[in-house]
Amino acid sequence: MFLTDYHVHSTHSDDAEDTMLDMALAAVKRGIKSLCFTDHADECCDPGCLSFAPNLFLPQTDMYGEFERVKEELSGKIDLRFGCELAAINHDPETAKKFRADERFDFIIGSVHNVRGRDDFYFMKYDSEEMCREITDIYLDEYLEITRLGCCDVLGHLGYPEKYMVRSGFETSVLDYPEKLRAVLKSAVENGIGIEVNTSGLRCSLGRTMPGREVVKLYRELGGEIITTGSDSHRKADAGAGIGEAAELLRECGFKYVTTFTKHEPEFTAI
Ligand SMILES: [Zn+2]
Ligand SMILES: [Zn+2]
Repeated sequence: MFLTDYHVHSTHSDDAEDTMLDMALAAVKRGIKSLCFTDHADECCDPGCLSFAPNLFLPQTDMYGEFERVKEELSGKIDLRFGCELAAINHDPETAKKFRADERFDFIIGSVHNVRGRDDFYFMKYDSEEMCREITDIYLDEYLEITRLGCCDVLGHLGYPEKYMVRSGFETSVLDYPEKLRAVLKSAVENGIGIEVNTSGLRCSLGRTMPGREVVKLYRELGGEIITTGSDSHRKADAGAGIGEAAELLRECGFKYVTTFTKHEPEFTAI
């Protein structure tokens, strides 16, 4: 089985612990053949809603140099790519375009960690079903904007707020908004943007990938082909975690291939 982890954070993310080298070595041990570093670039967030220090990213560090050295050192053991996780790119399209035009990147994940004017989902307090529904509704609107903006290669962890809502006892899901969900996935397909199957939900009380099986199936039914798998690991113990399960899920949902990227060009490898 071809295992690929296209969502990995290193010390270049404010909330992650281990170096690029240590993350890649841990992934090799788990049988990962291809890995893309996707450190946070939250410069696109609304001011006041920043979760991660914006200055940690590229221009201020030798991040790309470090990537090139690790890629060289591990060549033959694992195929490494350079990417980022851009949050809320629809809030700041100009910055998003700047990242998309930067030729160092192979891959960009477009994620929503907060909706306009609200805190990161991680920090929010969920106190009613009504509030969870309202957030989920706006969340899907924002993903629709991202598919139309088109500066990313895949949509990150679709359904991400559910991870925190479940923890507060609410079972609200993007599936509660079938028309909006279809519109997001259809627009992604039409604009050549894929989705990822993010396995971090397997490591918490949610107990499933983000998105889950039904959404992955729906994406397939709507003609979706571009799909990546990612651990969203922030420490080496999680590098490559759950990728085997995600690959199985893809197969069950009718995918024969998993996607990797070189300079934003999708490549399809049999799972
Ligand atoms: Zn994320
Ligand atoms: Zn992430």
